[in-house]
Amino acid sequence: MKKLLTILALSLIAALSAVSFTACDTEHTHKYDSGVITKAPTCTEKGIKTFTCVNGDDSYTEEISALGHVLIHHEAKSATCTEIGWNAYDSCSRNDYTTYERIAALGHEYESEVIKEATCTEQGYTTYTCSRCDDSYAEEIAALGHNYVDGVCTRCGAKEPGVFEGLKLILNDEGTEYSVTGYEGTSTEVYIPSEFNNKPVTSIRNYAFKSCSGLTSVSIPDSVTSIGDQAFYGCSGLTSITIGNSVTSIGDQAFDGCNRTVLQALLSPIVLRV
Ligand SMILES: [Zn+2]
Ligand SMILES: [Zn+2]
Ligand SMILES: [Zn+2]
Ligand SMILES: [Zn+2]
Repeated sequence: MKKLLTILALSLIAALSAVSFTACDTEHTHKYDSGVITKAPTCTEKGIKTFTCVNGDDSYTEEISALGHVLIHHEAKSATCTEIGWNAYDSCSRNDYTTYERIAALGHEYESEVIKEATCTEQGYTTYTCSRCDDSYAEEIAALGHNYVDGVCTRCGAKEPGVFEGLKLILNDEGTEYSVTGYEGTSTEVYIPSEFNNKPVTSIRNYAFKSCSGLTSVSIPDSVTSIGDQAFYGCSGLTSITIGNSVTSIGDQAFDGCNRTVLQALLSPIVLRV
């Protein structure tokens, strides 16, 4: 009987031992792996590393510090007339941060200089040069053209062609009107102005065009009232003459030696005293 009890006791111990071994398996000391980065850190944000028990029954996390920017320094570059610039700045090599600020191109600052003034007959030009970069361009100034007043250019003194180049004019004693006293021009066509210096041209003096045999055409304006003695004496080349209707006095032999046939036709109804 005592032996049986012993066997029973041993059996009970063995049974209890078996139960105890099973419970030990569920209450092991965790053995964690070396960790896996489950959230990568950035320059400015923390990351997370997760450690898991090799049995897969537990895990914990650890923070990974933010990386911080890796700054690269950039020197300043001045803006030019045509290119942008920037102040000195830093940027992160991971391209997530910069203090870069663009400075717009400045544009040219042109200063003008008249290199050649335009004249009556020649164009001039102006240069525009940038005070900063020397960039430059030129602009033409159109020729001004003559500004004729009474047949003379007020700017350059040129005489209006064909008008009264070479015509000699004299002011009367009263200073009120002009007379034509002679002709030294080269043109074969003479146009006598009706006014000179804002005063009327009223007469052609004696001998004014005497022996001007090269003269082919003469135009006498309405302002002229008298033609002097031998004024056109010997003007044998005259084929055209225009006389205003104000002429009231024609001197002796005024047209002597001219082509009478031509003159008769042209001057009709004015009666020539030749
Ligand atoms: Zn475990
Ligand atoms: Zn960064
Ligand atoms: Zn410039
Ligand atoms: Zn001129």
